[in-house]
Amino acid sequence: MSEWPIPKPIDPINAEFWHVCQDGVLRFQRCTACDRFRHLPRYMCASCGSTDYEWSAVEPRGSLYSWTVTHQVFHANFAVPFIAAVVEFSEGVRLMSQLVGAEAGQLELGLSVDVEFHVVSDEFQTPVFKLATR
Ligand SMILES: [Zn+2]
Repeated sequence: MSEWPIPKPIDPINAEFWHVCQDGVLRFQRCTACDRFRHLPRYMCASCGSTDYEWSAVEPRGSLYSWTVTHQVFHANFAVPFIAAVVEFSEGVRLMSQLVGAEAGQLELGLSVDVEFHVVSDEFQTPVFKLATR
């Protein structure tokens, strides 16, 4: 893979998400009032309205919710084709990233997918997906 661009979030809540990923553990916001997880990051719980939350680690395994094969170059640092996938976690949240090391012909909805971290630089890594092998 070529060197991927590093996100430059404008909103501090999005910057928090990328920051908490940098130890190689996938975390999502969890409302500390009602325990609901949420993603994309936001300031208020859509379920109960609380503004209290923490970043909670999740099991780095989800199921393939959707995917597409991208052939169009939209950023020079992303080599095409690649698989853009949406993975659903048991906590009820979904995350979109690249599914690496797989071919589209292997994919089926609901397949188990593991989260790994793609190291972009000494200071930045990003979650990606791989088909689960166990
Ligand atoms: Zn809540």
